[in-house]
Amino acid sequence: MSTPMSQINHIDESFYFSIFSSAKEIFLSQKEMASNAALLGGKVDQILENRDPKKGLSAEDAATLLHLVRTSPDETLRNKVMAAAKAQRERTFGHTVATMVPIEVSSFCASTCKFCGWRADNKDMARLSITTEAIRQQAKILATKGFSHFEIAGGDDLKLLKESLPDLVNALKTEVSKVNPASRVSICLVPMYEKNYSDLKKVGLDCVLTWQETYDEDLYNYHIPSGPKAWGVDENLKLQKKSDKSIGFLHRLQSQEFSIRAGLQAGLGAMIGLSPTTEADILSVVMHGQKLLSHYGDHVQPMIIGMPAWNAIMTEETDQRIEEGFDFDTENNFELLSAFYLLAFPDKQAWVFSNGRVAPEIQQACITTAACFTSTQVEIAPVAYLVGLNDADAQVDVVNFQRTHGFNEEDITKKEILDGEQFKHYYELHESFVEMFVDNGLDVVNDSSYLPAATVSQSQEDRIAEPA
Ligand code: SF4
Repeated sequence: MSTPMSQINHIDESFYFSIFSSAKEIFLSQKEMASNAALLGGKVDQILENRDPKKGLSAEDAATLLHLVRTSPDETLRNKVMAAAKAQRERTFGHTVATMVPIEVSSFCASTCKFCGWRADNKDMARLSITTEAIRQQAKILATKGFSHFEIAGGDDLKLLKESLPDLVNALKTEVSKVNPASRVSICLVPMYEKNYSDLKKVGLDCVLTWQETYDEDLYNYHIPSGPKAWGVDENLKLQKKSDKSIGFLHRLQSQEFSIRAGLQAGLGAMIGLSPTTEADILSVVMHGQKLLSHYGDHVQPMIIGMPAWNAIMTEETDQRIEEGFDFDTENNFELLSAFYLLAFPDKQAWVFSNGRVAPEIQQACITTAACFTSTQVEIAPVAYLVGLNDADAQVDVVNFQRTHGFNEEDITKKEILDGEQFKHYYELHESFVEMFVDNGLDVVNDSSYLPAATVSQSQEDRIAEPA
């Protein structure tokens, strides 16, 4: 029997502030060894052979594998790591994959992340937030396609969070559950607190996804200079004042812990290539997840390991990737990193999450090798799924929008909506992905089928206990 949550203390804040420096030190201390191809080859073989399915990899062993990204990108060794992951994926998840879809609810954002098109100081785009009716309509369309997991995503829009989020979660869960009772709902928004997550769980929330961007505090503060993501919010979702302390940075790191304490599934991840020592960021994700497992034991549901990447943004004149010196080869390392994540965590404790920030062939390769969880047909602007089938110039019904900014409400067109997408991404129909899965011998299943049975029945009881 695991210790009741009420008797488990919070993880000490000092742990969060130490993750990146520990990861970087472990990684860099191996640089000399890893530059010797023969030595590294022997080490990699040993690590793959001795991996314990109940534990995953130690931080030191995980760091060694990460030297295959750039220190010594030996093709044979990289293939060995991917083959080991593939074998593990088959043992753990069989020939199955679960599909998810993000639904953007607001492109209003009060933060100013340099890598994002929705940052508050980008005046070259129109902003929208959506109504509950619009989420219901999109939910009906998407649930019928066969998704089992639905993510509410959006900018740092505190007004929407305070006024509409519980209704949006509830409306989405209600609609998708009519089509598939095993449907699950996540949010990827401003990080909140245990109490906020508990309240959202009561109206249908299953999971909280929080991508840290970088575990390097100085780099985080450089790329995220202002707004809720920099300064944090309190339990009433009120923006905190700018201070010398990294409240936004810490609060974001604690989001997974708060969601686990609220009985929810958690997702974590770092932006691939944002840090010049991106391997230390990837290792930080592993050290963070391993700490949650050792501290919270059976209370931790399988963690979703996201793989965000810095893609070009839609309003090209505000794109800062080149001037910021971003040069990481995401596409050629995506599959290897997905394999790394799967091997680093204990079996069944991590769902590697493949996404549309890379070409569909790479996304599919990553799924075959390591990822049991993936997005397919992705649109990243509010109500984009509703306008997808219209003509380019078609007018869009304003009943779908809670608030708009940047154009005349009477004249909203499909083009204006899609021009406001958060960043450039690959787009393929869900059905095309399913064909690809079938060609690769994969069946699409509900993501709930990967959860321990106790978690599924508890979540059903939570819903049944809710007043109508
Ligand atoms: S990454 Fe998120 S918080 Fe940052 S500017 Fe973009 S939408 Fe806003």
